[in-house]
Amino acid sequence: MENKRVRVRFAPSPTGGLHMGGVRVALFNYLFAKKHGGDFILRIEDTDQTRFVAGAEEYIINSLKWCGIEPNEGVGFGDGPHAPYRQSERKELGIYKKYADKLIEGGHAYYAFDTTEELDEMRKRMEAAKVAAPQYNAVSRQNMRNSLTLSEDEVKKLLDAGTPYVIRLKVPRNEEIRFHDIIRGWVVVNSSQVDDKVLLKSDGMPTYHLAHIVDDVEMKISHAMRGEEWLPSAPAHILIYRYLGLEAEMPQLAHLPLILKPDGHGKLSKRDTSGLPMFPLNWQDPRDNSSYVGYKESGFFPEAFINMLVLLGWNPGDNKEIMSKDELIQLFSLERINKAGAKFDPEKTKWFNQQYLRKKTDEELADIFMPMLKEHGVEASKDFVAKACKLIKEKAHFVNEFWLLGFFLFETPSSHDAAVLEKRLNAQSYAFIEELKNELSDLSSFAAAETEACFKATAEKTGIAPGQVMQLFRVVITGVSGGPALYEIMELIGKEESIKRMDFFLEKNKI
Ligand code: GLU
Repeated sequence: MENKRVRVRFAPSPTGGLHMGGVRVALFNYLFAKKHGGDFILRIEDTDQTRFVAGAEEYIINSLKWCGIEPNEGVGFGDGPHAPYRQSERKELGIYKKYADKLIEGGHAYYAFDTTEELDEMRKRMEAAKVAAPQYNAVSRQNMRNSLTLSEDEVKKLLDAGTPYVIRLKVPRNEEIRFHDIIRGWVVVNSSQVDDKVLLKSDGMPTYHLAHIVDDVEMKISHAMRGEEWLPSAPAHILIYRYLGLEAEMPQLAHLPLILKPDGHGKLSKRDTSGLPMFPLNWQDPRDNSSYVGYKESGFFPEAFINMLVLLGWNPGDNKEIMSKDELIQLFSLERINKAGAKFDPEKTKWFNQQYLRKKTDEELADIFMPMLKEHGVEASKDFVAKACKLIKEKAHFVNEFWLLGFFLFETPSSHDAAVLEKRLNAQSYAFIEELKNELSDLSSFAAAETEACFKATAEKTGIAPGQVMQLFRVVITGVSGGPALYEIMELIGKEESIKRMDFFLEKNKI
């Protein structure tokens, strides 16, 4: 078993938009598979037809593609040797029923004919008797209508008459169930805590409990990594493997910690991401038409998104934070996944994007920025935009902030920061700007060092402290009071445009 080829699966149910917690489960599976030269499979667990959401499957596929964590086998990524990979299609092939029948034959599962009303009554009876957690189990099943309480004849009659039934797992009354989890170590649960889970529903569909076991075995899965919310069901799964005689085929289990709210109290939900997305891509929920903005559309780079995600619950063993996908593949290990939940940190999430933004070349940034410029009606050469990006990028977390941070590199500002004018514009500073314009007009080179020297010399000549006019001069050129190095800006926009802006200002603010 230790030497089994590594084959892992991401097995989402198409019950809504795949949120970042799901993406992280996929990411951990992906990294583990790649690290061990194994396979990463996408299986769609769509057996709960009441929760099926149109478009969810396509969304899952597109999200994995955007994140660059693509399965090499499974729905949407090319069928492998174990097709089909959609459970509803596997059900049609009769794959699950065989296993349910085998459990019945072995005396480890039984037919239950109880109606919804009967189940409700059972629950009420147990609540009245102050049973803490009412469940269908070794005790309560004795009072219900199932193949353990009815005679063989009665059962046959009901089955022949087509009476609806479910198949339930027959969990023993008081037995210790032990299993090993890679992240949590040994887990021991008494079977009295485990209910007689439904394995096959009355519509003939298997439940998750049966279906994922059958598929993990048939698809030769070596490790099952999934969210912590499945830990309470794991003891029932251990029993199913045992009763099917498939213990040797059982994948190793790893239950991944939750992603917590930023304050650490409770599971992260859409409401507590501090304005950051919950979903990788834009998601419109067809059930109520609510829509959610994605990380992609908010301007995140996929590399930054997965780098942030991987550190929610895992670390490489040192303080290294920025890691490429290849590095992550090298460094990843299940042993370094924490047991405790991981707090989502919105500021840190933006910081990751900033780090990746800084790693991009100015040309790469220009490619992303140019379509945005177009939306503002700006046509500029790639060379010019790349130079602009070099100036703008320092303060930005996202390329979509570039316009606001540097619009004045592309158009003559039509207004000037009123507060600065109020404070700094007077007859003396006006005269200085006039004089500076004349001096700058005489320069043969408009390199930053030349214009800076010219500014200083003019201040000295006119007897004004540079501090009195520096900010005003910035506003003359850019319209606003903050931004990249002013002389660099002037070098980029050039002499003609700089002088034009000074003329415009002098004309508009004549004293
Ligand atoms: N369909 C389950 C889910 O969406 C999969 C759990 C698993 O990976 O076994 O949570």
